[in-house]
Order: sequence, then C-alpha cells, then structure tokens
Amino acid sequence: MSKAINQDGIDALVCDNHYTSLPAHFYNKQMPDGISDPKMVSLNPQVMALLGLEDVAVDSDTLLQLCSGNYLPSGFEPLAMKYTGHQFGHYNPDLGDGRGLLLAQVKGLAQVKTADSTTWDLHLKGAGKTPYSRQGDGRAVLRSSIREYLCSAAMQGLGIPTTQALSVVVGSDAVMREQVEQAAMVVRVAESHVRFGHFEHFYYTQRLDDLKLMLDYTLTQHFPETLDAEVPYLAFYKQVVTTTAELMAHWQAVGFVHGVMNTDNMSILGQTFDYGPFAFQDNFDPGYVCNHTDYSGRYAFNQQPQIGYWNLMALGRSLTPFMDIAALNETLKTYDDIFLAKLRQLMRAKLGLQQVQDGDGELIKNLLEILAGSSVDYSHFFRLLGDFDSSEAVVNSAEGAVNTAIRDQFIDREAFDGWAAQYQQRLVLESSADEARKIRMNQTNPKYILRNYLAQQAIEQAANYDYSLVNELMAVLADPFAEHSEFEKLAALPPEWGRKMVLSCSS
Ligand code: AMP
Ligand code: MG
Repeated sequence: MSKAINQDGIDALVCDNHYTSLPAHFYNKQMPDGISDPKMVSLNPQVMALLGLEDVAVDSDTLLQLCSGNYLPSGFEPLAMKYTGHQFGHYNPDLGDGRGLLLAQVKGLAQVKTADSTTWDLHLKGAGKTPYSRQGDGRAVLRSSIREYLCSAAMQGLGIPTTQALSVVVGSDAVMREQVEQAAMVVRVAESHVRFGHFEHFYYTQRLDDLKLMLDYTLTQHFPETLDAEVPYLAFYKQVVTTTAELMAHWQAVGFVHGVMNTDNMSILGQTFDYGPFAFQDNFDPGYVCNHTDYSGRYAFNQQPQIGYWNLMALGRSLTPFMDIAALNETLKTYDDIFLAKLRQLMRAKLGLQQVQDGDGELIKNLLEILAGSSVDYSHFFRLLGDFDSSEAVVNSAEGAVNTAIRDQFIDREAFDGWAAQYQQRLVLESSADEARKIRMNQTNPKYILRNYLAQQAIEQAANYDYSLVNELMAVLADPFAEHSEFEKLAALPPEWGRKMVLSCSS
C-alpha cells in the first residue's frame, strides 16, 4: 500500500471504529489489497455530502487511492466481519466478508459539528481475500460494482431504505468470472453492516456469551431507544420485524426483485442490502425470478414477503437463548399486518388515493391481475395513470381519447375497461381533482427506473472507458420523479433483448 500525502481533507474524517470494541475473534483485521491503475468511474455527490466531504475535489488523488484500497487515512482499522447465514434455506457456517472490508466507522464532518452520534461504516467491496473467502478470489468486477452503485442511488432516490455507495473505481487487473472482467471496487456507506447472519453465527456455534455481546453492541449502537424498553431484546426484535416488513412492502410496491434474499444479505436496519442479480419489473410478472441460479424460484418477486418472514423467523430462532419464545412468536405474528398496511398505503399513493376505503384491497389486486395478464410495463403504467381522465363520459367510452394511451398498454383492453370503471367510481370518493391527483402520483410513481437494460448499457460503455451513461443515470435516479427532459431517452421501455433479464450471481 502506497502512502499518499493527504492534502485535501479526507483525513479530517473522525474515526470511531466501534466494531473493534467487540472481541478480536468477531472479525479479522487486515489491510485491503488495492487494485492497480485505478480510475474513478463515478463519485456520488450526495454521499460525499453525507460524509461532509463536499469540498474534496472530485479528481482528488487521495480519494481515488482510498476508494481503490491503496491508501488509508490515519485512524482507519480495516477488518473482515465474521457472520454466517441461511443460503437458499440451508445454513452455511462458512460465510463472512469474503471480499469486502469494513475500512472504518466514521463521523461525517457535519455530525462532528452538531454532536450527532451517527457514524457511517465505510466498506470497501472487492478488497481481496479474507479468511472467509472460501474458493473466491476476494475481488469484485466492474459489472457488479456499477450495478450496486447505481441501484443503491436509485433506491435512495425512490425513498426506499438502502445502503449507499460513495464511489466506483475500476482497475487494470483482470478477474476471472464466466469470462475475464475488469476488477473494480465500491465504497459502500451505511450506518451498519450487521446482518441477520451475525446472530446466527453465535447461535449455531452455541457461543452464548458472544451472542449476548453481539446483541448488546447492536442495541447500544443502533437501537439505543430499545434500551429503555421493558424487555430491550424484544423491543429490538419488534423493530427489526417492523422495518423488514415495511421494506418488503416498498419492494413489492415499486416492483423490485432482490434476487438473493439469504439471511446473510439481510440488514439488521431493514435496508436493501447486498445488491446482486436484482431487477426492477419491466413487463409485470408476479413470478419473476431474476437470479439464474435460483432454480426453485425461492426468491421470485411474489415470494419476497414470505421470505422476509422466513428470514425474521431465522433471526428470532437465534435470539431464543435470551428471549421468551412465546413473546418472540407474538412479535413475529405482527409481520403480516405491518406489511399489508404499508403495502396498502404505498399502493393507494400509487393510485393517487388519499382516502381509505374498504374495497381498496380488491381494486389493487384486480389491477395487479390485469397488469400481469397483459404483461404491462409496471412503472410505465403507473406513471401514465397519472393522466387518467376520471370524467364519466370518457371512462365509459372505449374511444375516450385521453385514456387511450393507458388502455393501449393492455393486450386485453376489455379487462382494462372493467378496471377503469372501478377506478373511476373509486375516484368519486376522493375530494381532489384529476390535476391535483396527477401531481401527487408523479411524486410517487417514478418516471426513471434502473431497468436492467440501462444498467447493462452503462456497464458495456464503462468497460470501454466511457462513464457518461453511468453518470447520466446517477443524475436522473437521484430524483426519479422529475421530468429531466434532457434525459428522456433514459425513460424508454426496454428493447426486446433487455426484457425480463436473468442475471448471474457470479459477481
Ligand atoms: P453474496 O452472494 O454476494 O452475498 O456472497 C455470499 C458469500 O460469498 C459472502 O460470504 C461473500 O463474502 C462471499 N463471496 C462472494 N463473492 C466472493 C468473491 N469473489 N471472493 C470471495 N468471497 C466471495
Ligand atoms: Mg452477501
């Protein structure tokens, strides 16, 4: 590791490194294995600001060296975390940070000034082999790094809980996957990298003292409000059940398929975590499986809510040495109601509805059925629906000029007519006019979605050292609800080759 001289403020990050307060066998301290000839592909200005680094030059060499594992500011103490987890329903004791290192836990400069105690984990993904690498090479490739970088920005822009990404850097080293690819690195930024699998590790090895340490650390650091509860561990579990249920509702409402919902990929904070072969729905298919190694469809789009529940059950089991099982089960039982209430709230907003009415569940269910029946593009439909003219004459006439564009999305137009009549009747119960409804709907139904074909085009251009599409996507995904007329092409529907893409996990 070359030691560059820092002249631009990165050393001003204040390290807290609270994870190192845990016993040494919870992790493996080690230096990153940097990549050669690094080039900055993209830097996220919002994450720079979050860390208080907005004054650091975009072309800062120190920043580039930090983001490529070649330079560590003073106070950084990199480590690989040990965790385990259930992969595709089977417990795997051999997991852990196999190719990423927690570089440091820092306070953003703004936090230091305001005495805010939030710290940010800086996690370098692709930083070389660790004791938990198994057969892996410890590397990440440009393709998967760009995908994680773009998608965490997309989720953030959509207002969905997620880890964030500061940077993508590409190097000259070749990495072998299904073919030779370029080595790359992402600096992931999150309040925590604690996964469900951290707790499973100590439960399955029956190291109960360590399990208790892990719990106490997590509560103190990330759930301080639960410390005053009657049963703090239960209050913590309740919180994880709630945030996970709400996250599942967000994914379903926006049409996001994670692809690898193993318990080692579940954040204790209920954030979207470990982006792999994810996809956003194009032509709506409830059974969409985007991960080509998911032969049984375990992580299909419509399975996600129940997998969220299954994963929470796995987490709950790990907590049983310290908690009343009946109380755990009671808490887990609240999952369905929390999920459904959140999903209804989000779907009502997508339909522009402000009132709560009994038949809303039915209206939503019927809509999803006809969207699936006609393979309608999910995001495009909801954006168009903002233009729905609710005046009775128009809805009742198949020729209604204003609604034709929406109706034309359907192969089965009569199915749409039936639903449109239902929707029109429902809108009567609302007090707002079509114009106001459209404004609301456009703030919740994105115009820009990180469709897999767009990510793929950005990756192919970046492989040829053209990073313009990555950066254009970053600009629209940061605010996907705005029109961005100069980037209209990025709202286009996928070409034939880009539909229902199935992606490889080998990232
Ligand atoms: P993932 O499917 O990306 O969540 O990874 C599952 C496990 O495999 C984690 O323990 C990762 O750290 C590890 N892993 C994934 N890719 C690599 C790699 N290229 N080298 C070493 N370990 C890896
Ligand atoms: Mg993972």
